[in-house]
Amino acid sequence: MTENAHTGIVFGIQRLSIHDGPGIRTTVFLKGCNVNCKWCHNPEGIPMQPLIGLNQERCVRCGACAAACPNGCHSIENGEHRFDRRACEACGKCVDACPVQALDLIGKRMTADEVMKVVLKDQKYYGEDGGVTLSGGEALMQKDFALELMRRCREHGIRIALETNGVHRKETYDAVMPYVDLFLYDYKATDPEVHKAYVGCDNRRILENLRYLHDSGARVLVRCPIIPGVNDNQTHFDAIAQLTVQLPKLVGAEILPYHKLGVSKAKRIDSEYQEFEMVDASVSDGWKRYIQSKGGRLVNVE
Ligand code: SF4
Ligand code: SF4
Repeated sequence: MTENAHTGIVFGIQRLSIHDGPGIRTTVFLKGCNVNCKWCHNPEGIPMQPLIGLNQERCVRCGACAAACPNGCHSIENGEHRFDRRACEACGKCVDACPVQALDLIGKRMTADEVMKVVLKDQKYYGEDGGVTLSGGEALMQKDFALELMRRCREHGIRIALETNGVHRKETYDAVMPYVDLFLYDYKATDPEVHKAYVGCDNRRILENLRYLHDSGARVLVRCPIIPGVNDNQTHFDAIAQLTVQLPKLVGAEILPYHKLGVSKAKRIDSEYQEFEMVDASVSDGWKRYIQSKGGRLVNVE
């Protein structure tokens, strides 16, 4: 077992979650991502290393963080809080000093034991469908740690769902397949150029891996965000319908309307972020009906 299997960088553990796979789940968010979707709802999870979030609206400009920081990263000038991240080592001293919780440390190194301690508290709620979801970021960027968590969950009879962007070597999927009960697999755009422009790579490998997982007998639910102006067109929804027809063992496709949760999170870490229009429920329902009219199989329709 490698050193990295014992510890990983975690930026959240969501207990009693009902949005990250079937049933009641504990979702473990692992840091790091190998793509950069412009609508990412967890932009703070993209960099692998821990980082500091600053909520300027909450900050009362008291200067306690500036006094606490050994590297001079914070300063209050003319009533403005300036934060120079370049020398920040994410030591967390400023976070502890802030009296109004305007700062937070996003991500910390945890052992598999520490994560499992939380998971096991919730095991009694999982019932027949629930379990643990490994999310991110992209959980497979910390493959060894993810595998260790999967092994431990398996030892306790806990089901695993894995969210993945599909951008990995087949060997990586070979390694995790024996442990994953359900892949929550992203499919974001059908036009390779659009995919490249908004995600950072084309979709060739994603489609190859989807077929590979399907043909290998993995349970896969394809998750498709609707991003206005990017993928809300017939070609894309035709392709989603076709995927569920051509790959009959897929659990189905789930259509997820874009939401703006990432906007404020990106602001807190000074990350660039593109904002899109919200999707009206009637529009989203219309696309779902369209996919079904093309023979597509969906999972989140009444
Ligand atoms: S985390 Fe540490 S180094 Fe970074 S700004 Fe805060 S006190 Fe300074
Ligand atoms: S300690 Fe908190 S409230 Fe005070 S200046 Fe720093 S971030 Fe703002």
